[in-house]
Amino acid sequence: MDGNVGRYEFQSEAKQVLELMIHSVYSNPDIFLRELISNASDALDKLRIEKLSNEALSEESSNGRITVRIDSANRTITVSDNGIGMSRDELISFLGTIAKSGTKEFIAAMSEASRGNGDLIGQFGVGFYSSFIVADRVTVDTRRAGSAESWLWESSGDGTFSIGPGRREVCGSDVTLHIKEAEKGDADSPAEAKDYLSKWVLREIVKKYSDFVSYPIYLEERGKDGGDKGEDGEKEPVNSMKALWIRPESSVTDEEYNEFYRHVSHDWEDPMERIVYRAEGTSEFHALLYIPARPPLDLFYREGAHGIELYIRRVFIMNDCRDLIPEYLRFVRGVVDSEDLPLNVSREILQQDALTAMIKRSVVRKVLDSLKKMKSDRPDDYKKFWGMFGEVLKEGIVSDVKNRDAIMKLALFSSSKTGQTSLEDYVANMKEGQKSIYYISGGKSASLVDSPKLEAFSDRGLDVLLMGDPIDEIWLASVREYEKHVFVSAASADAEIEGGASEAKAEPPGDGAPDDSVASRLKEAMKGMEGFAAIEDVRLSSRLVDSPATFVQKGEAISAQMRNFFKSMGQEAPPEHKILEINAAHPLIKKVSESDEGALKDWAVLLAGLACIADGEVVENPRAFARTIEKLLASS
Ligand code: ADP
Repeated sequence: MDGNVGRYEFQSEAKQVLELMIHSVYSNPDIFLRELISNASDALDKLRIEKLSNEALSEESSNGRITVRIDSANRTITVSDNGIGMSRDELISFLGTIAKSGTKEFIAAMSEASRGNGDLIGQFGVGFYSSFIVADRVTVDTRRAGSAESWLWESSGDGTFSIGPGRREVCGSDVTLHIKEAEKGDADSPAEAKDYLSKWVLREIVKKYSDFVSYPIYLEERGKDGGDKGEDGEKEPVNSMKALWIRPESSVTDEEYNEFYRHVSHDWEDPMERIVYRAEGTSEFHALLYIPARPPLDLFYREGAHGIELYIRRVFIMNDCRDLIPEYLRFVRGVVDSEDLPLNVSREILQQDALTAMIKRSVVRKVLDSLKKMKSDRPDDYKKFWGMFGEVLKEGIVSDVKNRDAIMKLALFSSSKTGQTSLEDYVANMKEGQKSIYYISGGKSASLVDSPKLEAFSDRGLDVLLMGDPIDEIWLASVREYEKHVFVSAASADAEIEGGASEAKAEPPGDGAPDDSVASRLKEAMKGMEGFAAIEDVRLSSRLVDSPATFVQKGEAISAQMRNFFKSMGQEAPPEHKILEINAAHPLIKKVSESDEGALKDWAVLLAGLACIADGEVVENPRAFARTIEKLLASS
């Protein structure tokens, strides 16, 4: 072995992904070629962009090309590009680690899925490692643009890789896959399923997955005599290199559009929605945008990918272009191709550029319009969309004041009566006399629906929106109404319950029911008791029907969840003003009213604890609460 050869361990996550590649069976092993060609195309983009600002690279070739070379005698496929290449350090970090957020989740999901799951791989876009689906050994011979050294990376995917001197004489990379021998009789083996050393097979795969790649892809075959046949009559590139977004929509098939989606999104499935758009006027651009049929794993990561690629007059400029689409539409994937921006635009310039801001505005409007259309034309699809991305879209209610109304019209909410509703339908279905929009927040929708605070509302046939997402409380803090209907928290002490009298047959408290004095006696008993400082008052409730007690909030309703959020941000939450409401018609409260002052303190602990638990919160002092229950049960 050469003295220069070093052996390295893969980072542990990379090792796990490799394991999965090698031992799992994929519904579609063909993706390896799509991934390698995509990397080659990225490498060519990078070189082109780096050349703009680095004169030292002016010598490097400007004619970007990708070659796929088959050598059946040696059972290899080599994907070559004359792009940016990799230095020794880059080889170690780019091919030895996985830097993507969501990797851990990906591995867990993959290991859970019985046998390998091609869908998940597609979604995660493991890229280079997918080589090991079909190959048992991979080498990368590469030279970084501007460097005089070449390096040869090599691995059998067994946990380690080696790096030694390479042979490439110009910048770029040759990625060579040593195709696995078909395991005889194993129909699941990728090599058994398809002959990847056949030119026809590879041509089909390239055409299918990589037709729109903007560099020519040549397919070559090493002759059986062992000598290079060169381009052997294959001077034509396999791919058409046509920018899909420029072509009239009628001339592009669904399959072509979907394939392009997979290219930009690394998703495996077809998208849920496609938006083809051409803007004319002050700013001219084409956009081809998609809404995925499934949320990406990194949807809730700060550094998660934004899905828009920027092209300028058909030339790729950058991916992950955050200035073209706001954070709350980060699930949208696709391409924007501007006719007006200068080719040497940088991220810094984009940030302050008026033209970019204009493109962004019109992209946002277009996406929101498409969603509106989907909502009215394909309500079932829209519900699915909302289930996946609604929580993200709602961030826009806070961050995009200009489009706030449009986003609120798109929102769907769980609700106590109808299951799910839009604000528009909520208002249309209001009861006579009802003007406010009732909601409850602070917890998951599934537990909110059981809150005692909703009893009087359900009793009167009033629908209450279950604001179960953390973002709901954030936007509710600044948005007070929808089309002149005020949002009113069912947990607010001042909530006036409009919409007529109780529909329940429940007996009114009637004669013999405790009067106000039980509330004031309880309040008196609580004075000075530990953990009761936040309870400002005790009063008879008009909202409880079946439960003995509940807490309501004076002033701004801030849930326990929101308080925790403040705490986690190191901020002081606004002080709490709680009122304990008790239900005079409940047998337990009758019992309380009959007990002497000594027992009242125990009842106070019990009622406050029960109210907490019914709200899905944790009792402040569980030990004392349990002891009080034991005591009360023993004495009854
Ligand atoms: P991804 O392409 O999603 O980043 P990959 O695992 O496919 O993930 O590749 C990891 C990194 O290795 C790439 O981001 C790129 O920097 C580098 N790389 C891969 N293939 C090439 C290539 N042909 N030329 C230059 N760099 C490459």
